[in-house]
Amino acid sequence: MKEHDCIFCKIANGEIPSKTIYEDEKYRVILDLGPATKGHALILPKEHYADLYELPEENAGEVMKLAKLMMKKMREKLGCEGFNLVQNNGELAGQTVFHFHLHLIPRYSADGQKIGWQPQEVTPEKLEEVRKQITD
Ligand code: 5GP
Ligand code: ZN
Repeated sequence: MKEHDCIFCKIANGEIPSKTIYEDEKYRVILDLGPATKGHALILPKEHYADLYELPEENAGEVMKLAKLMMKKMREKLGCEGFNLVQNNGELAGQTVFHFHLHLIPRYSADGQKIGWQPQEVTPEKLEEVRKQITD
């Protein structure tokens, strides 16, 4: 996708206004328009990378550092009791905006959200098969 067609490029670079809670030269952190909980935020790089595959390693480290900074601030200011970090890659995995973003989802007791998956049954043999498939 061309950068000028990307909504998160426009938001990250200030061409479209957003509820910004942090900004520096390379990143903007905004409140999600469809929040899972109070304070649900998105870390956006100002450069366009479609997903984590495309994100340079250097940025990956910076994004995680920034997540820690924001989590600390949001815990202090919002009084949340937990956090989910979610990062979707690919349509099948639920990605709807194809500009890398990391979801920061503060959790509160009785917030009514369910973020997770259905655990499947697996045998030790199957686990070993998968381990081998990945590592061989
Ligand atoms: P994804 O499903 O791609 O991981 O997440 C996309 C997220 O972006 C969704 O949580 C959605 O609510 C949010 N979103 C989509 N468009 C906008 C927008 O224009 N502004 C903001 N602040 N959030 C958006
Ligand atoms: Zn973009």
